[in-house]
Amino acid sequence: MPSSPLPRRHIARRTSVFNESVIREMTRLAMMHGAMNLAQGFPDFPAPDFIKQAAIDAIRADINQYAITWGSPRLRKAIAAKTKRFYGLDLDPDREVTVTCGATEAMMCAMLAVVEEGDEVIVFEPFYENYVPDAAMSGARLVFVTLHGEDFAIDPGELRAAFSSRTRAIIVNTPNNPSGKVFTRAELELVAGLCREFDTLCITDEIYEHIVYDANVHVPIATLPGMYERTITISGLSKTFSVTGWRLGYLIAPAELTDALRKVHDFLTVGAPAPLQEAAAVAMEQADAYYPELAEMYTRKRGILLRALREAGFACHQPQGAYYIMADFSGLGFEGDDTAFAHHLIEQVGVAPVPGSSFYHGDAGNRLVRFTFSKSEETLEEASRRLMGRR
Ligand code: GLN
Repeated sequence: MPSSPLPRRHIARRTSVFNESVIREMTRLAMMHGAMNLAQGFPDFPAPDFIKQAAIDAIRADINQYAITWGSPRLRKAIAAKTKRFYGLDLDPDREVTVTCGATEAMMCAMLAVVEEGDEVIVFEPFYENYVPDAAMSGARLVFVTLHGEDFAIDPGELRAAFSSRTRAIIVNTPNNPSGKVFTRAELELVAGLCREFDTLCITDEIYEHIVYDANVHVPIATLPGMYERTITISGLSKTFSVTGWRLGYLIAPAELTDALRKVHDFLTVGAPAPLQEAAAVAMEQADAYYPELAEMYTRKRGILLRALREAGFACHQPQGAYYIMADFSGLGFEGDDTAFAHHLIEQVGVAPVPGSSFYHGDAGNRLVRFTFSKSEETLEEASRRLMGRR
């Protein structure tokens, strides 16, 4: 007789240090209970016509076989040209741009390409939940730097203390999921100075680059002095063009880093869907006027959800970017932690959030839940009615 049950003996330990995605679990619970899904950040409204039409055209034109592993030439060219127009960076699309299956694969490629077993990787918290499994699968040891207070401020002393000779990289995510923080140039300069001083890499997740509100400005850390050569920038089409199911992301990095990223990408996924890459190229070639419209649309949605949450008694900070609100439910008199509260909201109120603890390694998220406003105004209005008890 085997000494332990078969499955456990055959399962690698690295899978035991992280759990199934809480965000996607909340989506399943929302569906089960008929709750409005303000948990998972994906749009429930149509993608723009110009990108859908381009995909239909691409399939009809029989762009249906593998694209070049690191991305179709047209899309890489469109990414490089857009990066030049918006941020002034001169990229060689043949050596410095790689198309991936979503920003999720891009982040995994980055970690696998640069991290040695046991290396330290610094991450700000609250953090996007993927970074924990990414670290576990690549062998990284995460070092957390907590953002403090209402406006998720960096404590410069704490940030410096996190850096050492063991630091391989720091992960930056701006505009930030879940906090809605848009890192200022001064904050990024602080990070950049430490990267240069300790000779570390920066892996920056900028998937929400075009979802920025009010007077806030998205600054890619790769544009700061001395940073391009040590930065891997991640972005993608999912959030900008409301096509999260297309799984299109990309990596921008200097040629030597890109060589390593491409090898990992090649053997993980071969490549992203060819017709959708074509559609993405067509879209990016003509979307400059669309990006501000996107930010305006999300400004209206932010207003609806923020008002409802505050009226319902949550304490929340107005996000500067991305499409999430972290809401403190301490004022609601609920006894129990964030997970119990999320279940209560789904089952009794009919609105699904994500428990705050998914974004913290300690217990700092236990009085928080995250809501997304990446939904139609009708969905947000109905969720608002439910939150305010007017179901
Ligand atoms: N980025 C989206 C979110 O944060 C979706 C993530 C996911 O499916 N895990 O909700």
